[in-house]
Amino acid sequence: LQHSQKFVYDFTEGNRDLKDLLGGKGANLAEMTNLGLPVPPGFTITTEACKVYLDSGEEPAALRDEVSAHLDALEQKMGKKLGQADDPLLVSVRSGAKFSMPGMMDTVLNIGLSDASVTGLAKQSGDERFAWDSYRRLIQMFGKTVLGVDGELFEDALEEAKAAKKVTVDTDLDAADLKKLVKHFKKVVKTEAGRDFPQDPREQMDLAVKAVFDSWNGDRAKLYRRQERIPGDLGTAVNICSMVFGNLGPDSGTGVAFTRDPASGHQGVYGDYLQNAQGEDVVAGIRNTVPLAELEGIDKKSYDQLMQIMETLETHYKDLCDIEFTIERGQLWMLQTRVGKRTAGAAFRIATQLVDQGLIDEAEALQRVNGAQLAQLMFPRFDDQAKVEQLGRGIAASPGAAVGKAVFDSYTAIKWSRSGEKVILIRRETNPDDLDGMIAAEGILTSRGGKTSHAAVVARGMGKTCVCGAEELEVDTKRRRMTAPGGVVVEEGDVVSIDGSTGKVYLGEVPVVPSPVVEYFEGRMHAGADDADELVAAVHRIMAYADRVRRLRVRANADNAEDALRARRFGAQGIGLCRTEHMFLGERREMVERLILADTEEEREEALSALLPLQKKDFVELFEAMDGLPVTVRLLDPPLHEFLPDITELSVRVALAESRKDANENDLRLLQAVHKLHEQNPMLGLRGVRLGLVIPGLFAMQVRAIAEAAAERRGAKGDPRAEIMIPLVGTVQELEIVREEADQVIAEVEAATGTDLKLTIGTMIELPRAALTAGQIAEAAQFFSFGTNDLTQTVWGFSRDDVEASFFTAYLEKGIFGVSPFETIDKDGVGSLVRSAVQAGRATRPDLKLGVCGEHGGDPESVHFFHEVGLDYVSCSPFRIPVARLEAGRAAA
Ligand code: ADP
Ligand code: MG
Ligand code: MG
Repeated sequence: LQHSQKFVYDFTEGNRDLKDLLGGKGANLAEMTNLGLPVPPGFTITTEACKVYLDSGEEPAALRDEVSAHLDALEQKMGKKLGQADDPLLVSVRSGAKFSMPGMMDTVLNIGLSDASVTGLAKQSGDERFAWDSYRRLIQMFGKTVLGVDGELFEDALEEAKAAKKVTVDTDLDAADLKKLVKHFKKVVKTEAGRDFPQDPREQMDLAVKAVFDSWNGDRAKLYRRQERIPGDLGTAVNICSMVFGNLGPDSGTGVAFTRDPASGHQGVYGDYLQNAQGEDVVAGIRNTVPLAELEGIDKKSYDQLMQIMETLETHYKDLCDIEFTIERGQLWMLQTRVGKRTAGAAFRIATQLVDQGLIDEAEALQRVNGAQLAQLMFPRFDDQAKVEQLGRGIAASPGAAVGKAVFDSYTAIKWSRSGEKVILIRRETNPDDLDGMIAAEGILTSRGGKTSHAAVVARGMGKTCVCGAEELEVDTKRRRMTAPGGVVVEEGDVVSIDGSTGKVYLGEVPVVPSPVVEYFEGRMHAGADDADELVAAVHRIMAYADRVRRLRVRANADNAEDALRARRFGAQGIGLCRTEHMFLGERREMVERLILADTEEEREEALSALLPLQKKDFVELFEAMDGLPVTVRLLDPPLHEFLPDITELSVRVALAESRKDANENDLRLLQAVHKLHEQNPMLGLRGVRLGLVIPGLFAMQVRAIAEAAAERRGAKGDPRAEIMIPLVGTVQELEIVREEADQVIAEVEAATGTDLKLTIGTMIELPRAALTAGQIAEAAQFFSFGTNDLTQTVWGFSRDDVEASFFTAYLEKGIFGVSPFETIDKDGVGSLVRSAVQAGRATRPDLKLGVCGEHGGDPESVHFFHEVGLDYVSCSPFRIPVARLEAGRAAA
């Protein structure tokens, strides 16, 4: 019941487990308050209040009174009233959703200042400059975020004021300058927003709260949510926090810090500090920050206290935390903390470090990393032997090696990347408006801002390569060019390479080499990379944890010995899908043509027996590479026309030949065959088991090749474990017919060679009918392998080859799904068919072996689903195997 709901929580009432209700920021402010850390008093308006507002367009009726009661209590505690003329209480209004969202309205500081109270603040603080600086900040932030005034109008006016006075930093403006600026800002508000800047402090506060609620549905927030797969209905909380002031002179300041290095995981003092500044000044790159370590020399007492608090937080949260703090005249205040974002490499290092420190156990360590991070660590990096032209160096903000054409604005980044270009987005600094451009770019380069700048934080979150704060590079976004110290000019469209692990920026395309983690998996780990060994050691340990706990086995999709061997090195426990069509290409295509063109039984037999030894040889090699492990061989699946020349090309060739009167007999027959085999919907046509039933001898030849290869391996004292898989079965009858023939061939080979081949025969479940009749199909199948690519196509009626390019973007934009169902399994639809087929199959045949092959086998979220429905294994491309192993471990831990 709405009226019985509590919509406002004092910081003393919440805790970190209440993120759903209080948002991340509010929950952690409460947690710090309860830890006894110095947090300015305040309260949080819940996400529930926001939801009511978003649903009904009105704030819940009880909210106003509840806010009043909490405000009264706050005023009592602080001994002054909000906006009180002679000694005003000031507050910040801060958004804070469950997940931090850079696309949303963030914060308005100094709420409560007005024409009346600004003089009171000046008197109370004894600092007139400070009071007017705070007031101009309020109008600026409020104007921009609450009233929707273009922020540049304020920024330009500030620049002009500095220029007029021939100074470069805002602290050089005095009280009189700032007073003038306030007057100007108010005029800007009046003309742009069509209303006066509100003088009533409570009205300021209420409007700001509403603006935070509204920002939940802002375009950028929505885009960010889609990107990050954050549900759209969570709503945001709003924090009202009494102000503390970092802009009260040189003994004041504001800073951000990490409890360890978010890039390497190393413990130490990481952060930035800015004297005589407020709020965002640190990250906005307005003035030069100093490294946090220098705070020790500036204010030893606060520094020591901060170090102490950082340790408390790390031990309490048992993880890397990032924090925001402010020092007001020598008094330290904590304004925010949260478990901090980190690079993929740091995630692995930190997880193992925390295990060593005894803060977490191995199961928890597995939850601190994920497959996406591991995949990121497997990206290649720049070849350090390559000849390069270095343009400059910035801060290594987010690792990776990115190469692309230079673009200087987000619009161009999006446009060019849509047309298939790889781009590097180069900006002086980024802000939330650049989000789409950052998503589109391969990497991001900025000339200003540190490790905690917007570009750095967002890029790390997205796993994008980023170099920031490359100050020696002069970025001119208006003229779309960047100038390096030597005078080299990079124009829009010139190729640059950026290294997010070293911060180096190069002209042109630098060649890339594999990552140390891949070298490790390949068993070729070598020295050379700066801190590779430490990273590799951490990955090694985490993989061992995962392998120890996981129930799902991981197999590879591989068609040849080379891939199979690589897969084994990566930890594959067999092959889940060997596609035999790959064995029909190249020079063998001609033999397939002969098979298709065969008019007589003899011709067909001849063509098949030419293919047999070749297929057999392929299998011998494959079984040898995977000796002792299962190898699932899928019989021929694609429609035959795929092995024939393109219909248009061939028609033209034949027509031309005919006009010259030297048409070749074979081409004419080919053309006929191509016409005959042409299908409107090849995906739903003559393929898979249907081929086997229609082309006599084809499947028998393949089965014979498998059986003879297995027999040969046994003869060589090997341990082949072949499994024969029939594709595209829709009904058990199809399978029965194929099996009868296959069983006979196998029996023949066994008799001839005197070996028990222990071959099993199973089927793919990749048509809805197969899934729906899985109980019957299991009568004839010794195993199922879910072909979730085709199953997704047929369940949704999506043509995989077409939809992604045609309308998926629109679907994603409209939020119909957050991710393509071809990428992550659609649990409700396709997944529920998988689930019921598993049950039905096992009901018929309790020892039925169950697996999945296809893209989903290497997708983290899907792997968790397959674990949960009880499959025995997933199969994926060799390169995804470590990711699948890790996620299978995480699912089981
Ligand atoms: P964001 O989510 O963008 O970090 P915050 O709400 O944390 O937004 O606030 C923005 C900046 O203002 C931060 O630097 C924060 O430390 C500072 N800030 C917020 N509230 C206060 C306050 N009550 N007193 C002083 N500084 C504040
Ligand atoms: Mg913050
Ligand atoms: Mg298929």
